[in-house]
Amino acid sequence: MDNDDYDFSVMRATMVMAQLKERGIEDTAVLNAMNTVPREIFVADSYKAYAYKDGPLPLPNGQTISQPYIVALMASLLNLAPSDRVLEIGTGSGYAAAVLSRIASEVYTVERRQELINYARNCLDRLGYDNIHLHHGDGTLGWPEHAPYDAIVVAAGGPIIPAALRDQLAIGGRLVMPVGSSQRQQHLKQIIRLGQNNFSQKDYGAVAFVPLIGAEGWPVTAAKKSKRRRPEQ
Ligand code: SAH
Repeated sequence: MDNDDYDFSVMRATMVMAQLKERGIEDTAVLNAMNTVPREIFVADSYKAYAYKDGPLPLPNGQTISQPYIVALMASLLNLAPSDRVLEIGTGSGYAAAVLSRIASEVYTVERRQELINYARNCLDRLGYDNIHLHHGDGTLGWPEHAPYDAIVVAAGGPIIPAALRDQLAIGGRLVMPVGSSQRQQHLKQIIRLGQNNFSQKDYGAVAFVPLIGAEGWPVTAAKKSKRRRPEQ
């Protein structure tokens, strides 16, 4: 079958029903965004048939587009309002940024690999979404120029929540990030900034993301040595 022969809108609606609603995602804005953004645009040609598969898919450089359910779960845990400004660390393909941009007012997204910035820019240009701002750099340092953010989401797993990201969160802001002492296994954490130095924290269970590499993440050398054992979310 040619890629043109797939009815992606039907596959997308089925994904929303079977993978998201059935698993308890209730936030209407998140469900609508997931039913709007064409994931097939962000997937390499050879994987288009699997664009709505219930799992992560490979990107260039051993990185991955997260599983649709994980994108929706993280977006739900951010409790977004339409006027919110969101910082995403780990742009990857740009898919999650596109989803967030349909729910919030502005999305600032940081990626450490220049080739993925180019990849994401190309996909987002095709969609004409104009409230997503891309930045090449180490996201463990955040993007201070546009802080504070109402919500921050980190799409790679780190050993700690970077201090710069806590600092750049508005009071009342939500931060969602996979945190773990191993490079391939984390727990999904939701942090709420209740006051200047007051943060609440909740655990949403075990997840497996690619490593967050940077000044307040894993060192580059350690990441190179670690072998992929199983696909990440
Ligand atoms: N949100 C993406 C998936 C991200 S995969 C999507 O929807 O497609 C995680 C990404 O985090 C990878 O692209 C990886 O290169 C990036 N990354 C890892 N460490 C980073 C850092 N310190 N700063 C910015 N990006 C980082």
